[in-house]
Amino acid sequence: MRPADAQTIGLTATVPVEILLAAGARPLDLNNVFITSAEAKALVAEAEHYGFPINCCAWIKGIYATARRLGVRRVIGVAQGDCSNTHALAEVLASEGVEIIAFNYPYPTDAALLAAALDALARRLGTTLDAAEAERRRLEPLRRTLAEIDRLTWRENTVAGEENHRWLVGSSDFGGSPETYAAEAEAFIEEARRRPPRREPLRLGYLGIPPICDGLYAFTESLGARVVFNEFQRQFSMPPPARDLVDQYMRYTYPYGVAGRVADIRHAVAERRLDGLVHYVQSFCFRHIQDRLLRERLGVPMLTLEFDRPGPLDGPSRTRLEAFIEMLDARGA
Ligand code: SF4
Repeated sequence: MRPADAQTIGLTATVPVEILLAAGARPLDLNNVFITSAEAKALVAEAEHYGFPINCCAWIKGIYATARRLGVRRVIGVAQGDCSNTHALAEVLASEGVEIIAFNYPYPTDAALLAAALDALARRLGTTLDAAEAERRRLEPLRRTLAEIDRLTWRENTVAGEENHRWLVGSSDFGGSPETYAAEAEAFIEEARRRPPRREPLRLGYLGIPPICDGLYAFTESLGARVVFNEFQRQFSMPPPARDLVDQYMRYTYPYGVAGRVADIRHAVAERRLDGLVHYVQSFCFRHIQDRLLRERLGVPMLTLEFDRPGPLDGPSRTRLEAFIEMLDARGA
Protein backbone atom coordinates (compact mmCIF):
# COMPACT_ATOMS: atom_id res chain seq x y z
CA MET A 1 0.00 0.00 0.00
CA ARG A 2 1.26 3.48 -0.93
CA PRO A 3 1.07 5.95 2.01
CA ALA A 4 -1.55 8.70 1.55
CA ASP A 5 -0.32 12.19 0.69
CA ALA A 6 -1.76 15.53 1.84
CA GLN A 7 -4.12 15.69 -1.18
CA THR A 8 -5.66 12.30 -0.46
CA ILE A 9 -9.21 12.09 0.85
CA GLY A 10 -10.29 8.60 1.88
CA LEU A 11 -13.81 7.53 0.91
CA THR A 12 -16.00 5.10 2.80
CA ALA A 13 -18.57 5.06 -0.01
CA THR A 14 -19.22 6.58 -3.42
CA VAL A 15 -19.57 10.35 -3.03
CA PRO A 16 -19.78 13.21 -5.54
CA VAL A 17 -16.21 12.75 -6.71
CA GLU A 18 -16.55 15.78 -9.00
CA ILE A 19 -16.42 18.03 -5.94
CA LEU A 20 -13.19 16.46 -4.70
CA LEU A 21 -11.58 16.80 -8.11
CA ALA A 22 -12.68 20.45 -8.32
CA ALA A 23 -11.02 21.01 -4.95
CA GLY A 24 -7.73 19.52 -6.20
CA ALA A 25 -8.05 16.50 -3.88
CA ARG A 26 -7.12 12.92 -4.72
CA PRO A 27 -10.08 10.60 -4.01
CA LEU A 28 -9.16 7.21 -2.60
CA ASP A 29 -11.91 4.66 -2.13
CA LEU A 30 -10.81 2.73 0.94
CA ASN A 31 -13.13 -0.15 0.03
CA ASN A 32 -11.23 -0.75 -3.21
CA VAL A 33 -7.81 -0.57 -1.57
CA PHE A 34 -8.96 -2.97 1.15
CA ILE A 35 -10.48 -5.60 -1.10
CA THR A 36 -7.68 -5.61 -3.67
CA SER A 37 -5.03 -5.92 -0.98
CA ALA A 38 -3.24 -9.26 -0.75
CA GLU A 39 -3.67 -8.82 3.00
CA ALA A 40 -7.43 -8.19 3.05
CA LYS A 41 -8.07 -10.93 5.59
CA ALA A 42 -5.28 -9.66 7.84
CA LEU A 43 -6.73 -6.13 7.67
CA VAL A 44 -10.01 -7.39 9.13
CA ALA A 45 -8.12 -9.16 11.92
CA GLU A 46 -6.13 -5.99 12.53
CA ALA A 47 -9.32 -3.97 13.06
CA GLU A 48 -10.54 -6.59 15.51
CA HIS A 49 -7.22 -6.29 17.33
CA TYR A 50 -7.99 -2.54 17.69
CA GLY A 51 -11.38 -3.23 19.21
CA PHE A 52 -13.85 -3.70 16.36
CA PRO A 53 -16.31 -6.44 17.27
CA ILE A 54 -16.48 -9.83 15.56
CA ASN A 55 -20.14 -9.19 14.70
CA CYS A 56 -19.45 -6.02 12.70
CA CYS A 57 -19.38 -5.94 8.90
CA ALA A 58 -15.93 -6.85 7.55
CA TRP A 59 -15.99 -3.94 5.08
CA ILE A 60 -16.08 -1.46 7.98
CA LYS A 61 -13.16 -3.22 9.61
CA GLY A 62 -11.26 -3.36 6.35
CA ILE A 63 -11.82 0.35 5.73
CA TYR A 64 -10.60 1.19 9.22
CA ALA A 65 -7.42 -0.86 9.02
CA THR A 66 -6.69 0.37 5.49
CA ALA A 67 -7.06 4.04 6.49
CA ARG A 68 -4.82 3.43 9.47
CA ARG A 69 -2.10 1.65 7.51
CA LEU A 70 -2.08 4.27 4.76
CA GLY A 71 -2.01 7.13 7.25
CA VAL A 72 -5.02 8.81 5.61
CA ARG A 73 -5.55 12.20 7.29
CA ARG A 74 -8.94 13.14 5.81
CA VAL A 75 -11.93 10.86 5.30
CA ILE A 76 -15.40 11.55 3.93
CA GLY A 77 -17.81 9.46 5.97
CA VAL A 78 -21.23 8.68 4.51
CA ALA A 79 -23.55 7.58 7.27
CA GLN A 80 -26.95 8.37 5.76
CA GLY A 81 -27.31 6.77 2.36
CA ASP A 82 -24.63 4.18 2.93
CA CYS A 83 -24.18 2.70 6.34
CA SER A 84 -24.93 3.68 9.91
CA ASN A 85 -21.84 1.72 11.00
CA THR A 86 -19.90 4.57 9.41
CA HIS A 87 -21.03 6.80 12.31
CA ALA A 88 -18.99 4.78 14.78
CA LEU A 89 -16.16 4.19 12.31
CA ALA A 90 -15.86 7.97 11.83
CA GLU A 91 -15.83 8.50 15.60
CA VAL A 92 -12.99 6.02 16.02
CA LEU A 93 -10.98 7.56 13.18
CA ALA A 94 -11.59 11.06 14.56
CA SER A 95 -10.36 9.91 17.97
CA GLU A 96 -7.11 8.95 16.22
CA GLY A 97 -6.69 12.40 14.68
CA VAL A 98 -8.30 11.87 11.27
CA GLU A 99 -10.31 14.81 9.94
CA ILE A 100 -13.84 13.55 9.23
CA ILE A 101 -15.93 15.26 6.59
CA ALA A 102 -19.56 14.20 6.77
CA PHE A 103 -21.59 13.80 3.61
CA ASN A 104 -25.13 12.48 3.83
CA TYR A 105 -27.54 11.63 1.04
CA PRO A 106 -31.08 12.82 1.86
CA TYR A 107 -33.63 10.21 2.81
CA PRO A 108 -36.21 10.14 1.40
CA THR A 109 -34.84 11.41 -1.91
CA ASP A 110 -35.14 15.19 -2.15
CA ALA A 111 -33.49 17.31 -4.86
CA ALA A 112 -33.35 20.50 -2.78
CA LEU A 113 -31.76 18.74 0.19
CA LEU A 114 -29.31 16.96 -2.10
CA ALA A 115 -28.35 20.29 -3.71
CA ALA A 116 -27.73 21.73 -0.23
CA ALA A 117 -25.59 18.73 0.74
CA LEU A 118 -23.51 19.06 -2.45
CA ASP A 119 -23.05 22.78 -1.81
CA ALA A 120 -22.02 22.19 1.81
CA LEU A 121 -19.42 19.62 0.73
CA ALA A 122 -18.06 21.98 -1.93
CA ARG A 123 -17.72 24.80 0.59
CA ARG A 124 -16.09 22.50 3.15
CA LEU A 125 -13.48 21.50 0.56
CA GLY A 126 -12.92 25.10 -0.55
CA THR A 127 -14.48 24.89 -3.98
CA THR A 128 -17.78 25.70 -5.68
CA LEU A 129 -20.60 23.81 -7.33
CA ASP A 130 -19.81 25.59 -10.61
CA ALA A 131 -16.29 24.16 -10.53
CA ALA A 132 -17.70 20.72 -9.67
CA GLU A 133 -20.17 21.01 -12.54
CA ALA A 134 -17.23 21.65 -14.89
CA GLU A 135 -15.61 18.48 -13.53
CA ARG A 136 -18.86 16.57 -14.18
CA ARG A 137 -18.78 17.63 -17.82
CA ARG A 138 -15.09 16.72 -18.03
CA LEU A 139 -15.85 13.23 -16.69
CA GLU A 140 -18.76 12.60 -19.08
CA PRO A 141 -16.64 10.98 -21.83
CA LEU A 142 -15.10 8.64 -19.23
CA ARG A 143 -18.53 7.73 -17.89
CA ARG A 144 -19.62 7.01 -21.48
CA THR A 145 -16.57 4.78 -21.91
CA LEU A 146 -17.56 2.80 -18.82
CA ALA A 147 -21.12 2.53 -20.15
CA GLU A 148 -19.63 1.11 -23.36
CA ILE A 149 -17.76 -1.55 -21.34
CA ASP A 150 -21.10 -2.39 -19.74
CA ARG A 151 -22.78 -2.57 -23.17
CA LEU A 152 -20.04 -4.83 -24.49
CA THR A 153 -20.78 -7.10 -21.52
CA TRP A 154 -24.48 -7.67 -22.06
CA ARG A 155 -25.04 -6.74 -25.70
CA GLU A 156 -21.91 -7.87 -27.53
CA ASN A 157 -21.00 -10.57 -24.98
CA THR A 158 -17.29 -9.85 -25.24
CA VAL A 159 -16.62 -8.81 -21.63
CA ALA A 160 -16.58 -11.18 -18.63
CA GLY A 161 -18.68 -10.50 -15.54
CA GLU A 162 -15.61 -9.93 -13.39
CA GLU A 163 -14.07 -7.51 -15.90
CA ASN A 164 -17.33 -5.57 -15.88
CA HIS A 165 -17.26 -5.56 -12.08
CA ARG A 166 -13.67 -4.35 -11.95
CA TRP A 167 -14.11 -1.43 -14.35
CA LEU A 168 -17.36 -0.20 -12.88
CA VAL A 169 -16.50 -0.60 -9.20
CA GLY A 170 -13.27 1.34 -9.74
CA SER A 171 -15.20 4.39 -10.89
CA SER A 172 -15.84 5.55 -7.32
CA ASP A 173 -12.39 7.16 -7.36
CA PHE A 174 -11.08 6.39 -10.88
CA GLY A 175 -7.95 5.02 -9.25
CA GLY A 176 -7.13 8.58 -8.16
CA SER A 177 -6.55 9.74 -11.77
CA PRO A 178 -9.50 10.00 -14.21
CA GLU A 179 -7.06 10.60 -17.10
CA THR A 180 -5.15 7.36 -16.52
CA TYR A 181 -8.38 5.45 -15.87
CA ALA A 182 -9.88 6.75 -19.11
CA ALA A 183 -6.81 5.79 -21.16
CA GLU A 184 -6.76 2.30 -19.68
CA ALA A 185 -10.50 1.85 -20.18
CA GLU A 186 -10.21 2.89 -23.85
CA ALA A 187 -7.39 0.41 -24.37
CA PHE A 188 -9.48 -2.31 -22.74
CA ILE A 189 -12.40 -1.56 -25.05
CA GLU A 190 -10.16 -1.76 -28.12
CA GLU A 191 -9.01 -5.19 -27.03
CA ALA A 192 -12.50 -6.41 -26.00
CA ARG A 193 -13.99 -5.39 -29.38
CA ARG A 194 -11.64 -7.81 -31.13
CA ARG A 195 -12.79 -10.79 -29.03
CA PRO A 196 -15.27 -13.37 -30.30
CA PRO A 197 -18.61 -13.31 -28.45
CA ARG A 198 -18.81 -15.46 -25.34
CA ARG A 199 -21.20 -18.40 -25.41
CA GLU A 200 -22.42 -19.01 -21.83
CA PRO A 201 -26.07 -19.99 -22.28
CA LEU A 202 -27.36 -18.51 -19.00
CA ARG A 203 -27.36 -14.79 -18.19
CA LEU A 204 -27.30 -13.63 -14.59
CA GLY A 205 -27.63 -10.37 -12.71
CA TYR A 206 -25.55 -9.72 -9.61
CA LEU A 207 -27.31 -7.62 -6.96
CA GLY A 208 -26.07 -5.94 -3.84
CA ILE A 209 -22.74 -5.01 -2.31
CA PRO A 210 -19.70 -6.02 -4.40
CA PRO A 211 -18.47 -9.45 -3.28
CA ILE A 212 -15.97 -9.71 -0.46
CA CYS A 213 -15.06 -13.23 -1.62
CA ASP A 214 -12.86 -14.22 -4.58
CA GLY A 215 -13.81 -16.45 -7.45
CA LEU A 216 -17.56 -15.96 -7.64
CA TYR A 217 -17.59 -14.75 -11.25
CA ALA A 218 -15.09 -17.32 -12.53
CA PHE A 219 -16.90 -20.19 -10.83
CA THR A 220 -20.23 -19.02 -12.23
CA GLU A 221 -18.76 -18.97 -15.74
CA SER A 222 -17.30 -22.44 -15.27
CA LEU A 223 -20.91 -23.61 -14.80
CA GLY A 224 -22.10 -22.08 -18.07
CA ALA A 225 -23.62 -18.88 -16.69
CA ARG A 226 -22.26 -15.34 -16.94
CA VAL A 227 -23.00 -12.20 -14.94
CA VAL A 228 -24.08 -9.55 -17.46
CA PHE A 229 -25.41 -7.04 -14.91
CA ASN A 230 -23.61 -5.81 -11.80
CA GLU A 231 -26.18 -3.69 -10.03
CA PHE A 232 -24.28 -1.48 -7.57
CA GLN A 233 -21.07 -1.44 -9.58
CA ARG A 234 -23.02 -0.01 -12.53
CA GLN A 235 -24.63 2.51 -10.20
CA PHE A 236 -21.20 3.61 -8.98
CA SER A 237 -20.23 4.37 -12.60
CA MET A 238 -23.24 6.73 -13.04
CA PRO A 239 -23.82 6.17 -16.73
CA PRO A 240 -24.85 9.35 -18.59
CA PRO A 241 -26.97 11.19 -19.42
CA ALA A 242 -27.58 13.54 -16.53
CA ARG A 243 -28.53 17.21 -16.72
CA ASP A 244 -26.33 18.33 -13.86
CA LEU A 245 -24.77 17.16 -10.61
CA VAL A 246 -28.04 17.09 -8.70
CA ASP A 247 -29.72 15.08 -11.45
CA GLN A 248 -26.79 12.64 -11.58
CA TYR A 249 -26.88 11.98 -7.84
CA MET A 250 -30.68 11.80 -7.78
CA ARG A 251 -30.53 9.02 -10.42
CA TYR A 252 -27.99 7.10 -8.35
CA THR A 253 -30.09 4.39 -6.66
CA TYR A 254 -27.60 3.12 -4.06
CA PRO A 255 -28.20 5.64 -1.24
CA TYR A 256 -31.97 5.80 -1.32
CA GLY A 257 -34.89 3.40 -0.79
CA VAL A 258 -35.36 -0.04 -2.29
CA ALA A 259 -38.01 1.14 -4.80
CA GLY A 260 -35.43 2.83 -7.05
CA ARG A 261 -33.30 -0.30 -6.97
CA VAL A 262 -36.26 -2.47 -7.92
CA ALA A 263 -37.07 -0.26 -10.93
CA ASP A 264 -33.43 -0.30 -12.04
CA ILE A 265 -33.13 -4.10 -11.69
CA ARG A 266 -36.44 -4.71 -13.46
CA HIS A 267 -35.24 -2.64 -16.39
CA ALA A 268 -32.01 -4.65 -16.52
CA VAL A 269 -33.86 -7.98 -16.31
CA ALA A 270 -35.95 -7.07 -19.37
CA GLU A 271 -33.26 -5.31 -21.39
CA ARG A 272 -30.45 -7.81 -20.69
CA ARG A 273 -32.70 -10.89 -20.78
CA LEU A 274 -31.57 -12.10 -17.36
CA ASP A 275 -32.44 -15.69 -16.48
CA GLY A 276 -31.72 -15.36 -12.77
CA LEU A 277 -30.30 -13.12 -10.06
CA VAL A 278 -27.62 -13.65 -7.45
CA HIS A 279 -28.12 -11.42 -4.43
CA TYR A 280 -24.97 -10.97 -2.41
CA VAL A 281 -25.53 -10.05 1.22
CA GLN A 282 -22.79 -9.11 3.63
CA SER A 283 -22.90 -10.61 7.10
CA PHE A 284 -24.14 -8.09 9.69
CA CYS A 285 -25.33 -5.64 7.00
CA PHE A 286 -28.73 -3.95 7.23
CA ARG A 287 -29.21 -4.46 3.49
CA HIS A 288 -29.76 -8.16 4.17
CA ILE A 289 -33.25 -7.21 5.34
CA GLN A 290 -34.05 -5.92 1.84
CA ASP A 291 -33.55 -9.43 0.43
CA ARG A 292 -37.18 -10.16 1.19
CA LEU A 293 -38.39 -7.05 -0.62
CA LEU A 294 -36.29 -7.82 -3.69
CA ARG A 295 -37.66 -11.38 -3.80
CA GLU A 296 -41.24 -10.16 -3.46
CA ARG A 297 -40.96 -7.45 -6.08
CA LEU A 298 -38.67 -8.82 -8.77
CA GLY A 299 -40.39 -12.09 -9.70
CA VAL A 300 -37.17 -13.60 -11.10
CA PRO A 301 -35.40 -16.70 -9.69
CA MET A 302 -32.96 -15.40 -7.10
CA LEU A 303 -30.18 -17.01 -5.10
CA THR A 304 -29.02 -15.23 -1.95
CA LEU A 305 -25.40 -15.76 -0.92
CA GLU A 306 -23.94 -14.44 2.31
CA PHE A 307 -20.29 -13.93 3.15
CA ASP A 308 -18.46 -12.52 6.11
CA ARG A 309 -14.73 -12.15 5.40
CA PRO A 310 -12.38 -11.96 2.43
CA GLY A 311 -11.32 -15.32 1.05
CA PRO A 312 -12.12 -17.79 -1.71
CA LEU A 313 -15.69 -18.75 -2.55
CA ASP A 314 -16.55 -21.41 0.02
CA GLY A 315 -17.78 -24.95 -0.61
CA PRO A 316 -21.41 -24.46 0.50
CA SER A 317 -21.75 -21.41 -1.75
CA ARG A 318 -20.31 -23.35 -4.70
CA THR A 319 -22.85 -26.10 -4.10
CA ARG A 320 -25.70 -23.61 -3.90
CA LEU A 321 -24.58 -21.85 -7.07
CA GLU A 322 -24.36 -25.20 -8.88
CA ALA A 323 -27.87 -26.16 -7.77
CA PHE A 324 -29.25 -22.73 -8.76
CA ILE A 325 -27.71 -22.83 -12.22
CA GLU A 326 -28.87 -26.44 -12.72
CA MET A 327 -32.38 -25.31 -11.78
CA LEU A 328 -32.26 -22.44 -14.30
CA ASP A 329 -30.95 -24.83 -16.92
CA ALA A 330 -33.71 -27.34 -16.22
CA ARG A 331 -36.34 -24.63 -16.59
CA GLY A 332 -35.00 -24.13 -20.09
CA ALA A 333 -34.13 -20.57 -19.20
S1 SF4 B 1 -21.75 -3.98 3.59
FE1 SF4 B 1 -23.49 -3.08 4.67
S2 SF4 B 1 -22.83 -2.94 6.81
FE2 SF4 B 1 -21.00 -3.24 5.54
S3 SF4 B 1 -20.22 -1.18 5.13
FE3 SF4 B 1 -21.55 -1.76 3.41
S4 SF4 B 1 -23.59 -0.96 3.94
FE4 SF4 B 1 -22.35 -0.99 5.82
